[in-house]
Amino acid sequence: MKIFEKSFTQQEPIPEAGIQAACEVMRSGRLHRYNLVEGECGEANLLEKEFSNYLGLPYVLACASCGYALHIALKAAGIQSGDIVLTNAFTLAPVPGAIHNSGGVPELIELTEDYLIDLEHLEQSVQRTKARFFLLSHMRGHIVNMEQVESLCQKYNLYLIEDCAHTMGAQWNGRKSGTFGQISCFSTQTYKHINSGEGGLLATKDPEVMAKLILYSGSYMLFETHTLAPDPEVFAAIRYNIPNYSGRMDQLRAAILRPQLAALDEQVARWNALYCCVAEGLQKSSKIIFPNRPPEEKFVGSSIQFSLPDFSEQQIRQVLVRCKERGVVLKWFGDSVPRGFTSRYDSWHYLDSLPELLRTKKVLAKLLDMRIPLTFLREDCLLLSEIIVDVVENL
Ligand SMILES: *Cc1c(COP(=O)(O)O)cnc(C)c1O
Repeated sequence: MKIFEKSFTQQEPIPEAGIQAACEVMRSGRLHRYNLVEGECGEANLLEKEFSNYLGLPYVLACASCGYALHIALKAAGIQSGDIVLTNAFTLAPVPGAIHNSGGVPELIELTEDYLIDLEHLEQSVQRTKARFFLLSHMRGHIVNMEQVESLCQKYNLYLIEDCAHTMGAQWNGRKSGTFGQISCFSTQTYKHINSGEGGLLATKDPEVMAKLILYSGSYMLFETHTLAPDPEVFAAIRYNIPNYSGRMDQLRAAILRPQLAALDEQVARWNALYCCVAEGLQKSSKIIFPNRPPEEKFVGSSIQFSLPDFSEQQIRQVLVRCKERGVVLKWFGDSVPRGFTSRYDSWHYLDSLPELLRTKKVLAKLLDMRIPLTFLREDCLLLSEIIVDVVENL
């Protein structure tokens, strides 16, 4: 019986250029982003500039994590305690966590068979709740029709914040993910597309929002040292009204990230080659079903999702166990018990009301998920898909 031996959580090393830049920062002793000598730009500023060029947006702020970024994005968007925030029922726990942290109340939206937020349910929910905020999580890299999102946001005057933790480097219809929302948030946590252990990035076009984000992130009034800061007058109007929620990114993490950002598009191509290899392998079983992914969606295949529609809950559990025995680690977002990084929405008991979202539960009950780290080779992808097909076909 074939066994898979590689680790699903093994990342590639930090590029040599990043290690060297990190060593330079450490030698300098000046790790804090505001500890700059005369005329020095600093790694955090450079990273922000480079990501702003990458996205084609004027303002970028580096911060402590994507969850933190979502929190201050909601604050900068003007959320008040008790305001409703529409968001995906299928997302990662830091998303409802950030809404809760900002004083907002998540209104969870159903999931479609194609693993996307259900825009019909979204429209019904905005009509019913009169919500003004929409935190759209591109969960597991699946991108919903963004023209439809834009027109819904216009129609109902919804403030759109994008959670791009899984779509850094992805596009919808030729536009980069993260350029649709008024604010977009990215993660540089180890399991995302660039890796600094922990870290986040925010992007916006709006100078007033950018000024607020800088102040919230804990600028100690040193905002003028930001290369991408808006004019001082923008700060003058608000500087006494924004609390310091201390969550900056340091120079060390920024130094590690810059060479990775420069290589992002190449890495995306590598991920997608591996994704295609796994997907082709899994298609050998007619029991394994993939979602429809329209041609407008240029996703990043850093993980793969598929469904086993004819399998019972008990059979899904068996698939997980048998794959694990053979070294293949699958995750199941349908599990009633939150495990590892997965949690179903009804495990967030701190929410005031937990709706019964039957469609979401039905889709999640059959949905399996697997990471594809870049340390895997083509032959690894062939082997692991062969194992999954073998388990599924012979259960
Ligand atoms: C990882 C993740 C986050 C949070 O990112 P952190 O940097 O770990 O805070 C938010 N949303 C989604 C969909 C994620 O996968």
